Amino acid sequence: CYTIPSRWGDKMIKTPTRYLSMDPKLPNLSHLQQAAEILRKGGLVAFPTETVYGLGADALNPEAVEKIFIAKGRPNDNPLIVHVANPKDIKPLVRKIPDVATTLMELFWPGPLTLIFPKSDLVPNSVSAGLDTVGIRIPAHPVALALLKAARIPIAAPSANLSGRPSPTSATHVLKDLNGKIDAIIDGGKTSVGLESTVLDITGQVPTILRPGGVTYEQLEEVLGHVEMDPALIQPELNAALKPRAPGMKYTHYAPRAEIWIVVGTEEQVAKKLKSLVDENRAAGKRVGIMSTEEM
Ligand code: AMP
Ligand code: MG
Repeated sequence: CYTIPSRWGDKMIKTPTRYLSMDPKLPNLSHLQQAAEILRKGGLVAFPTETVYGLGADALNPEAVEKIFIAKGRPNDNPLIVHVANPKDIKPLVRKIPDVATTLMELFWPGPLTLIFPKSDLVPNSVSAGLDTVGIRIPAHPVALALLKAARIPIAAPSANLSGRPSPTSATHVLKDLNGKIDAIIDGGKTSVGLESTVLDITGQVPTILRPGGVTYEQLEEVLGHVEMDPALIQPELNAALKPRAPGMKYTHYAPRAEIWIVVGTEEQVAKKLKSLVDENRAAGKRVGIMSTEEM
């Protein structure tokens, strides 16, 4: 049983989380039906996508969508991505499909590219966090696709972690954050990309990356000729100052619970300190990995 501080005051949510496991190569039909039924009734289901695990709810049911924000402790001005099974499913959700979208959908869907469209009235404001746009993608994961097809509804799904924590790439990660707060989880093994989808705004003159992710700048540039990066990606303080176009980027991401050391000094001093930290931690029985630039 958990107390979640939220805009609704401290809310208690207590749900036994149903654990549904399946081989992604051979999705289990009975488990899929159970998960689809929960979603159709307005419940929350975590499921694997090729990027990270998502926390899904019926995108057209405002009450179901609200539960996502409560379970994650997510600020309500951070919009959700809507997942669909087929390109034709976006029609009722958007006011306009720009030409460039058709090309991008053909090339990158299913895949880790979220496109921002002008939203239709069918999409609740809670999904878009009050913006008049909606982010949509088709995930490239057999379990996610099978679930979308079984549920026959668009599924709003942010990453299935507590707000601010790293995005989950396995069911174990999801349960650490959300066990008891969501109705079910589909365990389909580890996700392959391990990084969120790229968010691309195609509502303006020049396609603009609002969040870097699984599809690279270079891949988009090759197809589109010209792509811009949202200025707030380079100067995050802009996101706080202006009405943010990439609202999610103003919040802390990927904050692991770990001790941080900042080592300052000449290259030699830094190397020496690193070595002593490695030795110390190894002596304490820990395994140590070092990620570094080539120069170091
Ligand atoms: P998450 O799935 O947790 O990675 O969160 C979804 C992210 O997609 C948000 O934090 C935003 O950065 C982005 N996003 C979703 N919808 C929109 C939208 N309509 N406009 C701009 N960015 C969006
Ligand atoms: Mg997230």
